[in-house]
Amino acid sequence: MPGGDDLVARDRRCVMHPYAAPISSAPLFAVERAEGVRLTLTDGRELIDGMSSWWAAIHGYAHPALTAAISAQLGRMSHVMFGGLTHAPAVELCEALVALTPEPLTRVFLADSGSVSVEVAIKLALQFFIARGQPEKRRLISALAGYHGDTFGAMAATDPVNGMHHLFRGALAQHLFAEAPGPAFDAPWSPDALSSMAALLERHAHEVAAVILEPIAQNAGGMRFYHPQYLRELRALCDRHGVLLIFDEIATNFGRTGELFACHHAGVAPDIMCLGKALTGGTMTLAAALCTEQVAATIAGNEPRVFMHGPTYMGNPLACSAALASVRLLLASPWRARVSAIEAQLRRELAPCRAIDAVADVRVLGAIGVVELKQPVDTARVQPAFVERGVWLRPFGKLVYTMPPYVIEPGELSRISEAIVGVVSGL
Ligand SMILES: *Cc1c(COP(=O)(O)O)cnc(C)c1O
Repeated sequence: MPGGDDLVARDRRCVMHPYAAPISSAPLFAVERAEGVRLTLTDGRELIDGMSSWWAAIHGYAHPALTAAISAQLGRMSHVMFGGLTHAPAVELCEALVALTPEPLTRVFLADSGSVSVEVAIKLALQFFIARGQPEKRRLISALAGYHGDTFGAMAATDPVNGMHHLFRGALAQHLFAEAPGPAFDAPWSPDALSSMAALLERHAHEVAAVILEPIAQNAGGMRFYHPQYLRELRALCDRHGVLLIFDEIATNFGRTGELFACHHAGVAPDIMCLGKALTGGTMTLAAALCTEQVAATIAGNEPRVFMHGPTYMGNPLACSAALASVRLLLASPWRARVSAIEAQLRRELAPCRAIDAVADVRVLGAIGVVELKQPVDTARVQPAFVERGVWLRPFGKLVYTMPPYVIEPGELSRISEAIVGVVSGL
């Protein structure tokens, strides 16, 4: 297929990429098609996808059920404003999300991206306390190694070092950061695991609206998996101190960690929960913030009574149809068996990395496999090495990791594991 080199050259003249220099000659690959677990480059090369396009494409690409749902909706209505209007795709999706998420969550705000759903979650927490006559409760407690998105509100709750907060001093809300949650997911429980969190709550609860956390798996901030007991004790602490609990499930939602939602590992419900990424199975951008009846009723029952948010493309019918089809497809599939088979295979096949000098740690949870190195990897060098081995992986920092589509076949997953072991051995 002609045009790949030309496309890359044209891209370099005007297109910016995520977390990249705005003018860059870093390796870039032009994709022609994506189907199942394969990306086809414009030069004809096929890559097995180990990234699910950042946690999203859990069913693989171009799944006929998702394509059909979006096409059918396109024929009826691609978009209408959501102020004063509603439609079946949004109502059915919100009903499904309320039914699937922990019971106290009853109200859904549809947002256009994960970061925006985090903004909405923060705003819900602040408006809850404004409505209760406690406007001084406007700070958050977050955790080190967390990641909550790239907009200013979400960035302020992200790890201050990874999020380069020093660059934006004066423009970011000043939140409080507890030690990264621990111990590890399968390590013995340690009773002092919440000491830093407990101390912050003790000292600052009077000015704190909410604790925000990625449950069980911290993702872009370090790919760390922590103990479910942490969440149970955190829930009790938040209740004791009159602070709301926000779970950011944007990366972990819809089965990725082995449970439908990561908070199910702990049997704990938050007051506010963010969903995104895999919500539409990787087809369209859509996210959601859910809250309890208590949060919704408190805001509705007090001045100014309205919730102050409303994106232009809120509740986009195409995205809602895609999400509804994706959720139904997931629930009708043997997703739990697939994720646990991926987990077992990754544990087995990534284990040899432990013997490699450059490797600091290997960890696997659900359909997430992580090899942490002692030194940061040079992505510009390592990325093409993976492409040469026929797989698509995108390491960052010290982390080489995979979160493949759930439909990946064992032979395909072995290609990803072999590429990781091979490339990491050569570092
Ligand atoms: C990706 C991510 C976000 C941000 O979502 P976007 O859709 O990229 O804005 C927020 N929180 C977590 C945990 C994420 O993984």
